[in-house]
Amino acid sequence: MTGFTIDRRSLLVGAGALPLVVSPARAATPEAQGQPLPGTFNLPDPPAKRLKWAVVGLGTFAVGQMLPGFVASHRARLTAFVSGSPDKAHDLGARYGVSRFYDYSNFDRIADDSDIDCVYIALPVALHAEYAIRALKAGKHVLCEKPMASTVAECEAMIAAAKAANRQLGIAYRVHFEPNNVDAIKRLRAGEIGDLRYFSGEAGFVVNPSYPPHKWRLQKALAGGGSMYDIGIYALNAALWAMDEVPVSVTAVYSTPANDPRFKEVEGGVEWRLRFPSGISAQGSSSYCYTYATRQRFFASQGSISMDPASDYSQINMTMQHADLTPAIIRAGSPTVQFSAQIDAFCAAAAANQPHLTSGEMGLRDIRLIQAIYRSADAEGQIIKL
Ligand code: NDP
Repeated sequence: MTGFTIDRRSLLVGAGALPLVVSPARAATPEAQGQPLPGTFNLPDPPAKRLKWAVVGLGTFAVGQMLPGFVASHRARLTAFVSGSPDKAHDLGARYGVSRFYDYSNFDRIADDSDIDCVYIALPVALHAEYAIRALKAGKHVLCEKPMASTVAECEAMIAAAKAANRQLGIAYRVHFEPNNVDAIKRLRAGEIGDLRYFSGEAGFVVNPSYPPHKWRLQKALAGGGSMYDIGIYALNAALWAMDEVPVSVTAVYSTPANDPRFKEVEGGVEWRLRFPSGISAQGSSSYCYTYATRQRFFASQGSISMDPASDYSQINMTMQHADLTPAIIRAGSPTVQFSAQIDAFCAAAAANQPHLTSGEMGLRDIRLIQAIYRSADAEGQIIKL
């Protein structure tokens, strides 16, 4: 029996006739020991240290993409929902552990709620400015969906409100936190394929006027603009991200199908071209009429980068091809980290009260440019100096 121990309880009356052999002797195996944290990890903050968030507008994008993004976040905690639909809000509250609820009329009461640090706005575009300004006045940091607002004046008012409140205002250009897009821009900026000379980008989908989330997109009073506001903005923003220059002029033409009853108030499509001081140009098209596409190409002096899809929710592909046709660098199918990465970056900016990477000023710049694109298209492609 060497190497084994006997359970003494088995010798007691009634415990059975034979001794019970239960485990190898302690002396034969080393003791289990705790160890320090192995290496450096990007660990989540404890719940009590995280910034507390209210989500305003529980629609398709907020529920489908951003709520899961908050769950995956390391620095944020969902605490409040603001919705015009109490049943939906309470149902989602039960699922996400959210117990504070507001509607659009009592929204200003968030000023007294210390369980809200930041507000994420996912309403139709024309409501962005009002709710962003109310949230800023309530002393909260604001991450607002793209496009920033309907008009340049609204964007300026949002920026002024953030300054007055000494709070941060970010625009949710999630692609700036998507690994394959970030990698592409890093390689372009590092000159890995020489000097960038030209950009082209297509962004569109077929709008369905009977699908509720598309209905407001076809009403100017709620959407601010058409396909360019909603999806074309991705290609425009990517061009400016890559070029790192301020355009000097813009030309554009509409490509809305004639007599299509969907497009009484907003454009169904527009083709645009920007010219930059260094002589580079960027062009793109947006559409509510062609098949779903988010494609971008960067042409440089020694190669090109292709992103297709460029701004999906996941599975974004990047291919970099050198002019000498050495094997392409391919980064296929990025995971769904852009939403949580964006939220965590905004938390870091808000906690430090420093500007978010994709700031209100960036949102304003893009609305100014889209307005110039519309002015050119309204004038049949006239050159608009910027
Ligand atoms: P939805 O129509 O699905 O959701 C909008 C929500 O806003 C509604 O569910 C409702 O929430 C609330 N709402 C308040 N007033 C109105 C109104 N008058 N009409 C309609 N809805 C109203 O739209 P999306 O989720 O597609 O878009 C919301 C925002 O997110 C937009 O700014 C859009 O541009 C942006 N977006 C961003 C994307 C990205 O990739 N970054 C992708 C898709 C959209 P409730 O019932 O809770 O009150």
